[in-house]
Amino acid sequence: MTKFIICNWKMNLGNQDSIEFLNQIEMKSLNNDHQFIICPPYTSLGLVANNLKSKESDWHLGAQNCSDQDKGARTGDISAAMLKDLGCNYTILGHSERRQYHQESNESVKGKALKVITHGMIPIICVGETEEDYIQGKTIDVLTEQLSGSVPSNQCIVAYEPVWAIGTGKVPTIKEIETVHQSIDNVMQDLGFLNIPIVYGGSVKPDNINQILSKPTVSGVLIGGASIQPESMNAIIKEVCL
Ligand code: PEP
Repeated sequence: MTKFIICNWKMNLGNQDSIEFLNQIEMKSLNNDHQFIICPPYTSLGLVANNLKSKESDWHLGAQNCSDQDKGARTGDISAAMLKDLGCNYTILGHSERRQYHQESNESVKGKALKVITHGMIPIICVGETEEDYIQGKTIDVLTEQLSGSVPSNQCIVAYEPVWAIGTGKVPTIKEIETVHQSIDNVMQDLGFLNIPIVYGGSVKPDNINQILSKPTVSGVLIGGASIQPESMNAIIKEVCL
């Protein structure tokens, strides 16, 4: 089964930095078992798209958000059609940073996901519990609510990202990741959505990526911090592709 390696650059790497970064990356994967997806900021999407094309890379392009509207008076927003136009195949939606800093609701994530699907792309829908939820044993309840409210169909990827693991160096145990992924799959099945890829995100690094990817319930990883340093990105490529 192909595993997804999704790189979330967040609000990092402007045009010049993006190109310098890409020029230092060993992009030709040595096997076909992994689909790499780079998600730069909006401002670098066009440039990264052209760079990937010029290198005849099989890496895909993704965005980090989009509007739930098609066009019109939405200052500062970017539509799914515009992202498709730039060469995106994927769009991350409902990342915990957007839920936290932009008060994104499940309903709004669902609306965005529908636009992404309508324009022939795949939404990567993020869900995850806070540290408080985790400590109180509420993980599955929180995820069930997020999934029921934000996933519109089976044409998507779900990213399980415990909020307390993002950018902290803390990672759930492999057993916990497996158990939660199995629960997410059960919730999806109850909603009638079968065979949805579920990727894990939260402090994935070169030294833990293979152990996480080795589990059958894990369809890939979403990487933040380690995906914007050429050294760690090359180490990740080496780990998974060699
Ligand atoms: C993320 O941005 O979704 C993420 C998982 O970040 P990090 O890998 O830095 O924890």
